[in-house]
Amino acid sequence: MFKTLYVRDAFQCEEGLEVELIGWIRSKRRHGKLIFLDLRDSTGIIQVAVKHGVADNESFMKALDIGLESSVKVKGRLKKDPRAPGGLELHCNHLEIVGPSLEDFPIKKGVGLKFLLDNRHLHLRSPRVAIIMKIRATLMDIARRWLRENGFVEVNCPTFITAAVEGGATLFKVDYFGKPAYLTQSVQFYQEAAIYSLEKVYSLQPSFRAELSRTRRHLTEFWHLEVEMAYADLYDIMKVIEELVYAIVNGLNKESEREIRTLGRELRPEMAEPPYPRIRYSEALQILQSKGVNINWGDDFGADEERILSKEFSKPFFVTHYPKEAKAFYHMPDPSNPSVCLNADLLAPGGYGEIVGGGQRIHDYNLLTERIRENNLNPEEYRWYLDLRKYGSVPHSGFGLGIERMLWWLLHLPHIRSACLFPRTPARVYP
Ligand code: ATP
Ligand code: MG
Repeated sequence: MFKTLYVRDAFQCEEGLEVELIGWIRSKRRHGKLIFLDLRDSTGIIQVAVKHGVADNESFMKALDIGLESSVKVKGRLKKDPRAPGGLELHCNHLEIVGPSLEDFPIKKGVGLKFLLDNRHLHLRSPRVAIIMKIRATLMDIARRWLRENGFVEVNCPTFITAAVEGGATLFKVDYFGKPAYLTQSVQFYQEAAIYSLEKVYSLQPSFRAELSRTRRHLTEFWHLEVEMAYADLYDIMKVIEELVYAIVNGLNKESEREIRTLGRELRPEMAEPPYPRIRYSEALQILQSKGVNINWGDDFGADEERILSKEFSKPFFVTHYPKEAKAFYHMPDPSNPSVCLNADLLAPGGYGEIVGGGQRIHDYNLLTERIRENNLNPEEYRWYLDLRKYGSVPHSGFGLGIERMLWWLLHLPHIRSACLFPRTPARVYP
């Protein structure tokens, strides 16, 4: 069964044309001998008028009886009508049911959030969800294109791992044929191995974190765009981050403008135009303390701190040079002040907070071994990672960008889970 015409294309057709549309019934209204059906497909919604006499009797009876979300084929003529949404409607001659709804469609106006999440497999039919998923796909496509055009090679890394990247607390343990293994939190270490042959690499795949912090910005499974680059220091990688984020915002503004507008949002590329403000951790700490936040040197910023801090900015901004105890062992200490590291987080303005985390990695074998020990980790467990520093090590840097975080910020979603087809959070692995 081939689909001949999409709803969006029907709006480009001449009035009076006889067409067949295939879709799902989103709503139904009856005015005596006239039934209005809203027909939805992946491209839009059109009003279908089923009038007794214009439609054959059997079709009229089917329309009278039809359950919401049934799939149908409708044949008829396109007619302009200023009262119809979009100014066009389809006058039905014949209606055929492809797959009826066997029961009342459970998603109705006014149902609660939990119900919608429990029924996400059905809620996906909402045009709003579909629009967010289209924007998401475009965002990933723009990022990939930009990276490819700038000489980065896409690599695909394993999901089962044995060594933690971001610390043990958020590792998901799995039984790997009787031995412990974990789900990856980041593919950074594998990408670091790949730069010795490919120099500039990226990957786009899920990361898993057993985050018990129930914030509006944490998932337990998220899509992670990670980049690693040989011969790049902190400032080189910050430039890559700025340009990539700008390319995404600018690209979405061009390629998804209509969808973004439908969500009631507008992207202004100026708001993401480089260069971005850069502040050091010590300055960020002062800002927070001046706002009465109880935080001390050495503490990492959590969602609350970042919310307060990022309300002070109208553009994405970098926070750099965190105390080494607030960051993972692989971060390069600043040679001019080894108590801080050469790292950079990119925070989205307006209360959203971190969307990118990155920085320069330690490339010296002895220093890395020392930092592993200082963190009470066992160098033996990082043997292959340390090996990378034994043979032709070079300065290198990288970062990770959360796809759902980016959408959460750009679309001003109420919660990060709205950016996922099927969100995974501590309380939810179903459906
Ligand atoms: P946070 O402090 O918000 O937990 P993080 O410092 O743990 O973030 P990184 O380890 O630097 O984050 O990961 C890189 C990027 O991955 C983050 O900037 C963010 O965009 C995304 N990210 C990290 N953890 C999550 C999560 N639990 N859910 C969704 N996205 C995440
Ligand atoms: Mg985290």
